[in-house]
Amino acid sequence: MSCQDSFRRSVHYLRISVTDRCNERCLYCFPRDFAGWSEKEDLLSYEEILATVAVSVELGFTDFRITGGEPLVRPGVPDLVRGIVRTPGVRSVRLSTNATRLAGLAAPLREAGLAGINISLDALDPKRYYEITGGHLGPVLEGIEAVRALGFPRIKLNTVLLRHRNEDQIGALLDFAAQRDLILRFIELMPVTSREVLRPENFLSAAEVRRNLEREDRLEPVEQPLGFGPARYFRMEKRRVTVGFIGALSDLHFCEQCNKMRLTADGRLRPCLGNQMEVDLRPYLRPTIDRESLREAFLDTLRKKPLEHSFRDYYEPERTMTALGG
Ligand code: SF4
Repeated sequence: MSCQDSFRRSVHYLRISVTDRCNERCLYCFPRDFAGWSEKEDLLSYEEILATVAVSVELGFTDFRITGGEPLVRPGVPDLVRGIVRTPGVRSVRLSTNATRLAGLAAPLREAGLAGINISLDALDPKRYYEITGGHLGPVLEGIEAVRALGFPRIKLNTVLLRHRNEDQIGALLDFAAQRDLILRFIELMPVTSREVLRPENFLSAAEVRRNLEREDRLEPVEQPLGFGPARYFRMEKRRVTVGFIGALSDLHFCEQCNKMRLTADGRLRPCLGNQMEVDLRPYLRPTIDRESLREAFLDTLRKKPLEHSFRDYYEPERTMTALGG
């Protein structure tokens, strides 16, 4: 079996983007150049997503993450979670959210069987948070307390590193996570968003942040896996907090353990975030669901899955991150 085959055989994790239009116009759902990348009918229905999940399970996918834009702007996400959890062969369902709507949905999501939640938190200063996201910090903090109170098994905070924008927030974010026994992950900016276009001036590498933290504390590598992604986890001794580093650009081994594919909200199967290849699954989902063709489309996309991203090759995203799915 070639290394490509074994690489592709290890793919068991599908990230499913669900989003919708909302009226709050924060920058998560409405990046500056958001032009309504799709009409409602372009978006996959939950029935179509569940059919795609069922076929993917036959091909070895076992773990699923619901992402966006912002997934909780779409009505009925707890029902979708329940539907995926109840699909035979599914091992886990997790969610990534900006938590602006989480407080009111935490209990139904927990009841539906959600196994973990990642929450975007780029700053703790309300003014700075608004400058970066266009959203308000209050509801986000309420959402975090709501999932903590419900005892969600795995809660992670995700901070996208932005030089000269949230560098000075790192200490406060570490304390916030330590006080709540949450995992804090530092994510390098990738050239996949129009909300914050990657430039030398705003790029802050995960490697640099780790070096800075190692000057003040001891970072003990965490051996046990804390997720399916490429994050590298460490326990900070003095601060008593677990941190993760996600360095798509500075970490040359970033893609070696890649185990995922993405399903965009408008039904495109994407083998890699950092590659423009997509396969439109809607012809196999409409007007009726053609499982055999869906299966062939999955296998064909898997066969073409690149071994790594093209971010270092002057990569230009052809669609907004909201369309691609985090
Ligand atoms: S950039 Fe592509 S190959 Fe690398 S980890 Fe992400 S999806 Fe996998």
